[in-house]
Amino acid sequence: MTRFPLIAGNWKMFKTVAEATAYLATFRGLVAEVTGVDIVLAPPFTALHALAAAAHGTRIGVAAQDLYWEREGAYTGEVSAAMIREAGASHVIIGHSERRTLFGETDATVNRKTVAALAAGLTPIVCIGETLDQRERDETLAVLDRQISQGLDGMKADEILRLVLAYEPVWAIGTGRNATPAQAGEAHAHIRQRLREWFGAEAAERSRILYGGSVKPDNVASLLAQPDVDGGLVGGASLDPKAFAEIVARSRA
Ligand code: PEP
Repeated sequence: MTRFPLIAGNWKMFKTVAEATAYLATFRGLVAEVTGVDIVLAPPFTALHALAAAAHGTRIGVAAQDLYWEREGAYTGEVSAAMIREAGASHVIIGHSERRTLFGETDATVNRKTVAALAAGLTPIVCIGETLDQRERDETLAVLDRQISQGLDGMKADEILRLVLAYEPVWAIGTGRNATPAQAGEAHAHIRQRLREWFGAEAAERSRILYGGSVKPDNVASLLAQPDVDGGLVGGASLDPKAFAEIVARSRA
């Protein structure tokens, strides 16, 4: 089955409100004629509302980079799914490897955040992927199994259909060393097979699985040529509107 590609840009802790809206003013023109691909930008929380307002009426969606699972309360520094939705976002990145490594996130917190995002009507982009050590120990597929089974524990097929998975090998993030198309293809085929076994054929066939890790204009087409790679989660190269527009243009179905 053909799945519509999605390209999401993760800006991490880059761009002020002014920089974000200036980016959009350039970027929207660059992708105005591009069809056949969904586009999402994930700015820092501070720029979420302004970017969503500026993108209103375009085909560009907006994502948060994280959320907290409670609706409201005494959780200093945290932001809820409902707040993110109200700010104009349609998507939220969950369990990025930087959150797992630097901020102690686990498969259990990924699960709670994913449940909260779905309940608020946001599309979670749930990140999974192995470290270099795990790959070298030949544990990649076992790590993915654990992250999927625990991160998505308790979900029903209709919830799987409302989320996006992103396979991001940790050793490829921000390193300039992308997975080869064959490595990405193998991991994505495995993830889809697990979705099939655990959530059924429809969830497996319709769910989008993005690849992330040093995606650039010159490697995106070969990565997306893999049958189970349905788009990209792009960090560094999404910070430049021209490079990101080039990636989007080369990702069309
Ligand atoms: C990311 O932050 O999700 C990512 C994949 O970063 P980069 O494209 O810079 O490797």
